[in-house]
Amino acid sequence: MKKTKIIATIGPASQEEEILKGLILNGMNVARINLTHASHEFCKDIIQKIRKLNEKYHTHVSIMLDTKGPDVIVGKFENGSAYLNTGDKIRIYMNDLLGDSTKFSVSYPYLINDVKVNDTIKVSDGLIELQVLDKGHDYLLCEVIIGGFIENHKGVNVIGTKLSMPFLSPEDEEDIKFAHEAEVDFLALTHVSCVEDVLEVNDVLINLGDDHIAIIPKIENERAVDAIDEIIDISDGVMIARGDLGVELPFERVPGIQKSIINKCHRVGKVSIVATEMMSSMENAARPTRAEVSDVASAVADGVDAVMLSGETTIGKYPVETIDVMTKIIETAEHEVNYYELVDKAYRTEKQDTTGSIAYSVVDCASRLKACAIVTPTMSGYTSRKISRFRPSCPIIALSPDEKTVQNLTIYYGIYPELIKPIKSFDEMMEKSTTMAKQLVGAENGDRIVVTGGYPMKQVKHTNFMKIEDL
Ligand code: PGA
Ligand code: MN
Repeated sequence: MKKTKIIATIGPASQEEEILKGLILNGMNVARINLTHASHEFCKDIIQKIRKLNEKYHTHVSIMLDTKGPDVIVGKFENGSAYLNTGDKIRIYMNDLLGDSTKFSVSYPYLINDVKVNDTIKVSDGLIELQVLDKGHDYLLCEVIIGGFIENHKGVNVIGTKLSMPFLSPEDEEDIKFAHEAEVDFLALTHVSCVEDVLEVNDVLINLGDDHIAIIPKIENERAVDAIDEIIDISDGVMIARGDLGVELPFERVPGIQKSIINKCHRVGKVSIVATEMMSSMENAARPTRAEVSDVASAVADGVDAVMLSGETTIGKYPVETIDVMTKIIETAEHEVNYYELVDKAYRTEKQDTTGSIAYSVVDCASRLKACAIVTPTMSGYTSRKISRFRPSCPIIALSPDEKTVQNLTIYYGIYPELIKPIKSFDEMMEKSTTMAKQLVGAENGDRIVVTGGYPMKQVKHTNFMKIEDL
C-alpha cells in the first residue's frame, strides 16, 4: 500500500468513466481539474462520475479545483499556431486579433502599462523568449530572443513583474462559489504572490460559510518563494508548481526550492505537493525515462505528501498506465525511506503538548513493534494529520463519521480514511479498528495494530489515548 498520494489532473484523455475507473483502481487519490482549461459543465460531469465510482468501488477519491488566477494567455492564431523566428521583430497587441508569425494578441489589455522596455516576456512554458524593445499605442514591439512554435491560448509570463491585475477576478469569485456548491475538497490557487492573495480567497470562503474546502496556494513565481513561510503558515498546504516556477525563475533553482518547501511543510505539518513533468515522457510512451523514475522516487525520499500528474493524464496516450507505473515507483521508493530521520525531524519541531507527545510515541511504538497499521478514530481528522506528520512506515487508517473529514484526509501522506457510523463506546471503537485493519490492510491474527485518538470522541478536542492491540 503506497503512502505517498497521487493527484491526477483530469482532461480530454481521462474524462470517460472507464478511464477514471482505471485511474482510481491504480492509485489516484485526488482528481484535479484546472478551471483555466475546463468549464463548470466539464467539472460537474467529472465530479459526478468520480462520486459514482467512489460508491461503486468503496474508494474516497477527493476533488481539487484550480482557480484561473491572474493568468495571461495569448489569443488565437491562423490555423491554431505560428512559428516565431529568432531575431525577428514581432508585435503583441492588446486588442483581440488573429495572430501569425509577426503578431499576436494577449488576454490582458493592461499588459502594456505593466511592462517596461527591456523586460523579458516568455510564452509557452518559457520555450519562447521575447524582449520588449518599445511601446506603441496598443502594442508592444518585441525582439524574438528564442523562437519557436506558438499555439492558441498558451501562457504568458512577464519575468520579475507583478501585474497590476487583481488576484481574484469576478470570474474567479464565481468559480470559488461553484467549488463551494459542488462541495469540492481542495482549492488550488493559481499564481499566488503574497499572503494577501490567500487571505482574499479565505474571505470569500468565509462569506460563503464554507469551512470545508482546504486552500493550497501554487508556488509558481519568485514573490511566492520569498513569502513562503508566511504562505505555508496560513494555508493547508502548498503545491510546488514546477512548470511556471521554472519559467519565472532560472530552472536550475527549482530542485533546491522543491526540497526546501517539502521540508518546511513537513516541519509544520502542512501538505506538500510536487507538480508537473514528473512522468511527462509517458504522454507518448508506455514507459517513463529513468530520470523521471528518479524524480518521483526522490520526492518520496524527501517525505512529500503527494505527487501530481498533469499532461500525462489530461492529454497523454497512457493515463491509466502512468498511474500504475507511478504507484509502483512510489511503493518501491518507500522501502528505502529513512523513517527514523523523518520522525526525528517532526519530533524536534513538535509542540510539547499531549497530542504531540502521544503522536510521537504512537509512531515510535508502531515502528519498534512492527505494527501493520496505526488506526485513528477521529472527528475532525486532527489526530490523523498529526500522526501523518511523523511519517510512520505503516499505513494510517483514519475512521470518521464525518464525510467531509474523510474526503479531506485523502491527500495526506499515509492516511487511508474510511467513513464509519458514530461510535458509542470504547469497546466498539477497538472492535471497529480491528475490523477495518483486517479489511483495509489485510491484517491477520497475530498481527499488531496501534490505535490512538481522543475519547470520548465528541467531548475531547485532543488525542488522549494509545492502545496496542494484538489481533
Ligand atoms: P498549472 O500549474 O499546471 O496549472 O500551470 C502547475 C505548474 O505551473 O507547474
Ligand atoms: Mn502553473
